[in-house]
Amino acid sequence: MLVDYHVHTALCGHAVGEMEDYIRVAAQKNLAELGFNDHAPAFHVRDPELTMAAHQLSEYVDQVRILQKRHHRPKIKLGIEADFVPGHEDELKQLLGQYDFDYIYGSVHIIGEWRFDDSRLYPNQYDERDVDEAYEQYFSLIRQSIRSGLFDVLGHMDLIKKFNYWPTGNIDHLLRKTVRTIAEADICVEVNTSGLRRPCAEIYPSEKILGLCHRYGVPVTLGSDAHGPEEVGLDFDKAAETLKRVGYTKVATFERRERKMMPL
Ligand SMILES: [Zn+2]
Ligand SMILES: [Zn+2]
Repeated sequence: MLVDYHVHTALCGHAVGEMEDYIRVAAQKNLAELGFNDHAPAFHVRDPELTMAAHQLSEYVDQVRILQKRHHRPKIKLGIEADFVPGHEDELKQLLGQYDFDYIYGSVHIIGEWRFDDSRLYPNQYDERDVDEAYEQYFSLIRQSIRSGLFDVLGHMDLIKKFNYWPTGNIDHLLRKTVRTIAEADICVEVNTSGLRRPCAEIYPSEKILGLCHRYGVPVTLGSDAHGPEEVGLDFDKAAETLKRVGYTKVATFERRERKMMPL
């Protein structure tokens, strides 16, 4: 069985469609669970095209809980995708602690002031940056986010490759160090199919990273990162194939932040 734990809503200002339409597509694709996982209000930036505003969070939670009562196939879950920005951990903990989410995603979308994944700025500043250094900084933030203890799931863990810029040398040591940190923290890694629709044309994280995750006993879950109903469950056949190839037989599901494993 498959779950899609990463779909957005119009509240974030850059996704489209009715929540019921996302659910309808998930039902057509026979997904066991659909998790709404919209962008949490951010502290480092107030941009109505990036995240919902702070006052919309309770509205979001209420809407998902209503849909949860209305639908049982797929089961609806309440997630939230939070930006990890060092220095804002306490505020984030306080904000998200007000609600009983089924799971909390931690995602790194920004390095310092550089919003490296923002498609509005495409191709962004990669040409002016030292790409090797960007990878170092990105994975260092990822490790900090893991150690913060705030998150259940690590979102699109090699997002830095989005615009098809790659490190010049071998970064195996960086990946191993990061996967070891994930295993120590006992959190889950998301297999996110949206990378296939981006210039990098690869699932996040790469098959190589997934192989390492499997070796270190790291659980995985699945997300499409849908920003429109038609993207729900997109390319999940490819994700499932990749997971089976590296040895996974189960995916993680969450309820009130408790993890359970379900056969793939
Ligand atoms: Zn988004
Ligand atoms: Zn994200």
